[in-house]
Amino acid sequence: MYSTSPVKIVTEKVASPDQRFAVTHRQELIAGFNQASLTNADGIMIGAGGIGSEIGEGLCRKAVGRLRIFDHDVVEHTNLNRQHFFAADIGENKACCLVRNLASHCHGGTTLEGYPMSFEDALALDMDMSAAFVVCGVDNSEARVAASRYYYRLGIPVIFIAVDMLAECGHVFVQESTPNTPCFGCAFPRSLAGRKAPCFVPSAKDILKVTAGIALYAVDSLLMDRHRNWNYRLHHLAGFAPDVLTTVGKDSKCALCSSIQQGSPAVGATTRRASTGSASL
Ligand SMILES: [Zn+2]
Repeated sequence: MYSTSPVKIVTEKVASPDQRFAVTHRQELIAGFNQASLTNADGIMIGAGGIGSEIGEGLCRKAVGRLRIFDHDVVEHTNLNRQHFFAADIGENKACCLVRNLASHCHGGTTLEGYPMSFEDALALDMDMSAAFVVCGVDNSEARVAASRYYYRLGIPVIFIAVDMLAECGHVFVQESTPNTPCFGCAFPRSLAGRKAPCFVPSAKDILKVTAGIALYAVDSLLMDRHRNWNYRLHHLAGFAPDVLTTVGKDSKCALCSSIQQGSPAVGATTRRASTGSASL
């Protein structure tokens, strides 16, 4: 079915030469930081493109316990200006290449797994997609809606990341784990129409780094006492329009979450349609 097999790499923990401090010592000095929560966490990243490259590196450096990456797309030469790939990766599956390339960023014993398939394909195969947190960095609303619906039902938080068509503005939305909080559809009702992203959009490292940094903080806020007074942030690089930092409320008439009962069984694989193609951002 897939031309590439999944990749799993168990990385080594780098020991301190004098046994004094772990490699994560400096971040452990941050107020509220709980290394054990991150080291014990199992994260899923949907999309291994520009956002996935940045967040993946951050999670590896911070020593997340396990990171599973899903993407069906292959590396193209136009990805190399911003995504964590090299010329030798061109034509290879992004999720598997990213896992191999991230391994050298792991110093805290992270287990990396790359799956050459979309999120929707993983659901159709009835894979275990439960996790402590999910990062959704794809370029189309259909995949975002699928992730929102699936994880809202399970009560697993999802961080949605998007960059605008000018590569000037980035958004981060956190779908929390509780039923009284908004889903992706509450925050972006027009996205429920499931529009596809255009094939060629501007993109550069700068906006991806800024947006991924905020999303990395959001991951910590879900796992430990690093406080977050927002569930939606929008930021502009140029600064001609104001940044936004707010808490989006739940929409009781939301077309996505109002009919979902948290904790109810997920839709069976046999009733799901084939992949909608969740290409990465
Ligand atoms: Zn909703």
